[in-house]
Amino acid sequence: MDKKFAILGDIHSNIDALNVVLDDCRAQGVTDFLCTGDVVGYNACPRECLEIIRGLGCPVVMGNHDHYVSSEQNLADFNPAAAAVIEWTRGQLTEDEMTYLANLPFVKTTMGITLVHSTMDNPESFGYVFDHLQAEAHFSHQVTPLCFHGHTHCPMIYEKQIGAVYRIDAQDFKLPIGRKYFINVGSVGQPRDGDPRAAYALYNPKTREVTFRRLEYDVAAAQERIRLAGLPERLAERLEIGR
Ligand code: ZN
Repeated sequence: MDKKFAILGDIHSNIDALNVVLDDCRAQGVTDFLCTGDVVGYNACPRECLEIIRGLGCPVVMGNHDHYVSSEQNLADFNPAAAAVIEWTRGQLTEDEMTYLANLPFVKTTMGITLVHSTMDNPESFGYVFDHLQAEAHFSHQVTPLCFHGHTHCPMIYEKQIGAVYRIDAQDFKLPIGRKYFINVGSVGQPRDGDPRAAYALYNPKTREVTFRRLEYDVAAAQERIRLAGLPERLAERLEIGR
């Protein structure tokens, strides 16, 4: 059977968005999953999301929130909303779940595809890639033709040709041979590109097509869970504006 990859990340404990994405994956005939990290943080269902992602048995890389939650990271310099939800998440997870998160790799290459949460240019410091210059620093470390990432929560394509790197708005396309691509798949659980719909990407290695998916989900239900958990109101509000 031909393979079809679903690449998803920045789920951020949003079970309502994750379930809709997985239903869509089934409808699209996905055979393999890849996860670009940040399973937890920001939303109110870390355990449920972890159980589902672990159940997929797929490669997962370490996101900064996965790292902060499962390490002794001092939160003094964090913004108060981020720190509050990291503390809260630490209190929800079992020892086994913490150990799982703490042991995620920062970079993973599987079936000729590389995964990283932020950038391969020092992946443990979680720098943001918003422009072609930041992508250029990443490309000097990318060996495979294709690498997927997340972290900014904004879907985007970076293309490296001989001597130049380009930033291209996320759009469905067919990978040309002989170039390298660094593709941001957007965020399942907290999109920030002004579109509140859940985001993920599909990749068909046979046809070389990359497809960006956006899906409506029950934002009000996710907001309700945040409020019931007593997490900062700002985290509920931002879901409906996608920022
Ligand atoms: Zn994130």
